[in-house]
Amino acid sequence: MYSSAEAKAEADRCLYCVDAPCIKACPTEIDIPTFIKKIASGNVRGAAATIFEQNLLGHSCARVCPVEVLCAGDCVYNAWEREPIHIGRLQRYATETATKAEEAGAPKLFTPKPKNGKRVACVGAGPASLAFAGTLALEGFEATVFEKRAVPGGLNTTGIAPYKLQADDALHEVAWVESFGVTIKTGVEIGKDIKAEDLIRDYDAVFIGVGLGEDTKLGVPGEDGPGVIGATAWIEEMKLTLPREHAKSLGRVLVVGGGNTAIDVAREAKGLGADDVAMVYRRSQKEMSGYAHELEGARIEGVRFVENVVPHSFVRDASGKLVALRVSRAEGGKAVPGTEHDLPCDLVALAIGQSKLRAIATQFPGVTLDAKGCVVVNDAATCRTGNEKVYAGGDCINGGKEVVNAVADGRNAARDVLARLSKGS
Ligand SMILES: Cc1cc2nc3c(=O)[nH]c(=O)nc-3n(C[C@H](O)[C@H](O)[C@H](O)COP(=O)(O)OP(=O)(O)OC[C@H]3O[C@@H](n4cnc5c(N)ncnc54)[C@H](O)[C@@H]3O)c2cc1C
Ligand code: SF4
Repeated sequence: MYSSAEAKAEADRCLYCVDAPCIKACPTEIDIPTFIKKIASGNVRGAAATIFEQNLLGHSCARVCPVEVLCAGDCVYNAWEREPIHIGRLQRYATETATKAEEAGAPKLFTPKPKNGKRVACVGAGPASLAFAGTLALEGFEATVFEKRAVPGGLNTTGIAPYKLQADDALHEVAWVESFGVTIKTGVEIGKDIKAEDLIRDYDAVFIGVGLGEDTKLGVPGEDGPGVIGATAWIEEMKLTLPREHAKSLGRVLVVGGGNTAIDVAREAKGLGADDVAMVYRRSQKEMSGYAHELEGARIEGVRFVENVVPHSFVRDASGKLVALRVSRAEGGKAVPGTEHDLPCDLVALAIGQSKLRAIATQFPGVTLDAKGCVVVNDAATCRTGNEKVYAGGDCINGGKEVVNAVADGRNAARDVLARLSKGS
């Protein structure tokens, strides 16, 4: 993290542009020049307040946002081929400094308004729901979040690669949101332990923030068995259960996929000391959907790229141990028959997508799905579904974007609830 002198020096570079393109590039529209100006003038608490007023999860966003394609990517310095302002690092400095001061006894940044008698419920305790529940709790709502896992935080806690965000840091942020009066009930699955209709009956508004489902499988022979794991399941194990020393015996790792999740898994495996890590993709490296800066980071860290191959089957020895991934050469993403060959490996991580949690959303009358299985909302500004009491946001409506998009949805839905319920409609 920046020292205060470093933060001031970086903040002093900000030009306080009139049109501030960085604000428009941030899905939560944080007033970036204002918070940076406050850091420059030594008002770090004020800077943190400016950030949190738009984005209650500004702390994790500062660590995980792909700033190169969001705020910093639109900084005017880029046009002059100069280093853009390090917005994410300044945001982390402000939020971390201010929340630590709060813990050390400084006055609270935010005090919830007195209770207004209204109750809201959230399905899932990921960033979208936390932004929704936190925003309304500060406005005096009784907000309850139901989470099926044993831990809250969604993918911030279980899915985002630990080199970006450790589970403890994610949980720390969750505790901060809870301190506004949000109640989080873990180990409760909506649709199983509590019915959707019960939530509609018992609460003034419900927010669906269930994210995505299980990792997608390849569906090729030999897949079921030891040594083959879904990417998010693997990261969850890494973040929550496995001692880091154990990870050193990973051996040779193949990561199937070319997106940001695949890159994260590959970089994490490399960082944990795997002997060899390669990303296996059916098209060329140039066509991988992962961010260019992340791919470059992976390459620098020693991740290899095996391009233009399609997995054919998993090869196991007599004891069932995985020994190789059999692949075919690919042209235009399609396997060329008769070109099968083996890529020796000890572990294969599948990063080819996650399924949609269709069943739970449609248990709410009036809530519908689009052709891709995403929950349909009227618009991103309100996140209203077809049921006037039910809102939805985050990965379950966009099919999988970033934490900051989930936060924007949760906050927008909360603002709409506030406007509606204060009018009494
Ligand atoms: C491997 C990986 C790496 C990523 N890296 C980044 C990154 O570096 N930067 C970034 O900005 N974004 C990243 N993302 C994307 C980001 O994590 C998501 O966009 C974000 O977490 C979505 O938030 P959400 O609240 O919609 O859902 P989630 O975070 O998925 O939370 C949904 C929660 O709902 C719970 N739930 C589901 N069904 C029920 C039910 N019926 N009852 C109760 N609870 C339920 C789930 O257990 C989960 O905790 C990454 C995603 C993955 C998979
Ligand atoms: S929330 Fe993310 S995109 Fe928005 S200003 Fe902060 S780091 Fe940039």
